[in-house]
Amino acid sequence: MPTKIIFGQNAVKMNAENLCGYGQKALIVTGKHSSKLNGSLQDCCDALKKQHIEWVLFDRVEENPSLETIEMAAQIGKTEQVDFIIGIGGGSPLDAAKAIGIFINNPDVTRHNVFDAQPLQSLSIIAIPTTSGTGSEVTPYAIVTDHQAKTKRNLGHFVFPEVAFIDPRYTYDLSLQVTVNTAIDAFTHLAEGYLNTRATQFSDLNAEKGFALFGSCLPALKSGHVGPNEREKLMMASTLAGIVIAQTGTSLPHGMGYALTYFKGVPHGLANGVLFSAYLNSFKNREKIDRMVQHLGLKQLESLILDLKELTAVQLEITDEELKEYAQSMASNEGKLKNHPERVNADDLYAIYKASLTK
Ligand code: NAP
Ligand code: ZN
Repeated sequence: MPTKIIFGQNAVKMNAENLCGYGQKALIVTGKHSSKLNGSLQDCCDALKKQHIEWVLFDRVEENPSLETIEMAAQIGKTEQVDFIIGIGGGSPLDAAKAIGIFINNPDVTRHNVFDAQPLQSLSIIAIPTTSGTGSEVTPYAIVTDHQAKTKRNLGHFVFPEVAFIDPRYTYDLSLQVTVNTAIDAFTHLAEGYLNTRATQFSDLNAEKGFALFGSCLPALKSGHVGPNEREKLMMASTLAGIVIAQTGTSLPHGMGYALTYFKGVPHGLANGVLFSAYLNSFKNREKIDRMVQHLGLKQLESLILDLKELTAVQLEITDEELKEYAQSMASNEGKLKNHPERVNADDLYAIYKASLTK
């Protein structure tokens, strides 16, 4: 994982010189509101000013960024002749920043041919996360919404940010709902990376530390009182989780959750979380799950399942036909299936959807 991580309070302000070396003009890519309210955009602009670097602001990234938005931002970046990109926000702006870098650096790429192209290089990316969930600041993935294919998918060009400035203070005012959903996303990265055919001793070390941090925050997440101490731990857990999936990738819940986000508007972390208990229960070999439960500081899997159910309660209007379609589509997602250590077919996937989403 080649990204330089600068973690701690005032990470941007105290390390502004790390913005140098990528060019004279940056494109700042962010969401519509939150980075203006939590101090991250101001800190970044102050640091750029201090280093005499110019910038252009694109602040229209929506949740689950679409290829249309990415193309629009890339057009601005090309016209303004920017040299590098700074993504500020949750996973959506960070992933958009990576994709925009690909589009600017490869002028022939459009939303119609980007998935067919050979691996492409992006402009340099600097990442400033403001949620503690996706770990996008330390992963090479850019998950985009492809309306033509009616799904979310990884852009497929591997873009690790050069530098990640990670300041937990930006998450202090996150709503409880987003805090819980994003914390669950981080947990699912840790667990899907741990229970993964590509897991190694090194990725497991990161995951086990992440489980301990996440487990110690479970009481706060359930009570709704998440203080600065827990926010710092969740940010660290999310970074560790990103490092894990940068090595292993994710597996069934992520692949299955995209349909719930695309068709039913369920936020990303919640979409994974709601499927997670049935996913864990589907394992025939529970040995590594038991180890995970121990690292979380819990006595038994049942406690984890009860906590997950409490944190991810969701009511969805969904038909049996829809569940069958989602299961069928996931059954052909080779990339995710090969990361899962047990063989599953469309019926098994349908059973996970059904157990998770119907009473
Ligand atoms: P997000 O979609 O980036 O943001 C969710 C909401 O939270 C937005 O309304 C945003 O507002 C707000 N927000 C962000 N930071 C905030 C803060 N500090 N205070 C208050 N509100 C804040 O959410 P996310 O869960 O972080 O990212 C989800 C996306 O990441 C999905 O598209 C998912 O597929 C992707 N993802 C990527 C990876 C990867 O490795 N690349 C891994 C997992 C998930 P504004 O719009 O106003 O900013
Ligand atoms: Zn995720």
